[in-house]
Amino acid sequence: MLPQPTSQPPFSRGGPTRIGASQARTDNRPMHILLAEDEHGLGEWLSRALAQSGFRVDWVDDGRLAERAALDGDHDALVLDLGLPGRDGHEVLRRLRAAGATLPVLVLTARDSLAERVGTLHEGADDFLPKPFALAELEARLGALIRRSRGRAQPRLACGPLQFDTAARQFTLAGEPLALSPREHGLLRALIVRSGEPMGRAQLLERVFGDEEEVQPAALDVLMHRLRRRLEGSGVHIRTYRGLGHALEPDPGAGGAAP
Ligand code: CA
Repeated sequence: MLPQPTSQPPFSRGGPTRIGASQARTDNRPMHILLAEDEHGLGEWLSRALAQSGFRVDWVDDGRLAERAALDGDHDALVLDLGLPGRDGHEVLRRLRAAGATLPVLVLTARDSLAERVGTLHEGADDFLPKPFALAELEARLGALIRRSRGRAQPRLACGPLQFDTAARQFTLAGEPLALSPREHGLLRALIVRSGEPMGRAQLLERVFGDEEEVQPAALDVLMHRLRRRLEGSGVHIRTYRGLGHALEPDPGAGGAAP
């Protein structure tokens, strides 16, 4: 599980009113924040302060954990420090966007240079805040980001009759939910994000197995074989391009996206 801040106060609704308290809810749901910050003093303080304002906060202090939690969790937004151990914030951001993660990302940076700001926006950041910052500004920006993203339809990815609902993280095949193991799910997700375009073995291994050590390359072949069988006759298939990799493609004549 995610490491929790050690001294998280109870969720306060009746407590003292803070500036951000009214901003921490939309649709009557508390906003759920993933905080990636390795400075423990700042991480603890932010977790506590945001919780007191009514946010739900998961705090991680490492880039790899941040990426995993953002892909697996149901967070409304990620607050991302750029200088993180394990994997730096820029890379976390690039990898999340490449994997199809759509959650809004607010980048915290000590390096307040124009080039860096423009760079993080190109990498898929939605907003940024140079350190040091005022809590009220962070809360206001988070509230605005989340309200914007909740008001926008979540994208669905499709390839022939196969669809992936990025909000529910569910695949459907001709409208029927497709039950997959976590690894099959990871592989199919990597393929559908770039459907029609071959992905190399190294990329796929990284997407599916992440940082696990001692993954046998044959594990990918086994997984690919299983996934191909699951998709057999469905109108979508995985095609191998020699020397280039594997691509998810609709069968010829299967038509475009399902309704
Ligand atoms: Ca840092």
